[in-house]
Order: sequence, then structure tokens, then C-alpha cells
Amino acid sequence: MKYLPDSEAQQLIEEAKKASEYTYSPYSNFPVGAAVLTGDGTIIRGTNVENASYGLTICAERTALGHAVSTGKTNVKAIAVYCKTNAAAPCGACRQFIIEFGNDIVVVFMHGDEMVQQTIQELLPFAFTKETMAAVAGIGDKNSNP
Ligand SMILES: [Zn+2]
Repeated sequence: MKYLPDSEAQQLIEEAKKASEYTYSPYSNFPVGAAVLTGDGTIIRGTNVENASYGLTICAERTALGHAVSTGKTNVKAIAVYCKTNAAAPCGACRQFIIEFGNDIVVVFMHGDEMVQQTIQELLPFAFTKETMAAVAGIGDKNSNP
């Protein structure tokens, strides 16, 4: 199945919403949460983490994925993003970050009152991926620890 059942996607949005409660966003006051669903059913949350040096700010999606990797979970099935304005499609940097872990990862977010599900490949066509690296340089294949 390409996308999650609606109930499962909605649950993942709720987990992302819970994550947003832990935001560190004193500069934008724009709390965002993300929740990663791994292949074994584990849900791992993340929130945006801002910095006085704005460029160092980390989006919720990247925090959640970093948290997942830090717990040995790189088999990512889906990721949900939540913000209170219901307009939280992943930014370009996060799309690139997500596709590192698979072309078929389902991304779930709200667009107004509509829940959207798209694969990361649909959100980032013609992506630069580890397959690109493998084809060009013979590196970056399945080995996560070069
Ligand atoms: Zn982002």
C-alpha cells in the first residue's frame, strides 16, 4: 500500500502534535512537531529547535529523524508533521533529509482541513539520493557506516 490507512495517518499527526508541545521556538513562536513511524511500528517524535544564530535552527522532521537514527531505527515507513496553522508541508531541506531514508516514505501533513499523504518521492522529484552517489562514485549504498 502506497499510503497509510487514514486512521493510522491521523494517529501519526496526533503524535506530531504532542511533539510540538515540546518546541524550542522562542524566536518564531512557530511550534512544529514531527513523528516518525518506523517499519517495526515504533513512533519517534521530534520538534523544531531554534537558535539565536537563526541558520542553526533544526526543523522538527530532522530532529525526529536524528532521534530515530540515534535509537538504531533507520527503517522509516512514514513521517507526520504538525503545526497549529495546519500548513506544515516539509521544507526543501527536510524533503532532502527524509528521502535519504527511502523513496517511498509516506509524508503526512495537514493542508487546511485536508489531511495530505504523499510519498517523499512525490514531494521531491528528481532527487539527489544515495543511489545517485552509488552510480557516480560507487559509494553511499546500503552501508550506513562508511
Ligand atoms: Zn524543514
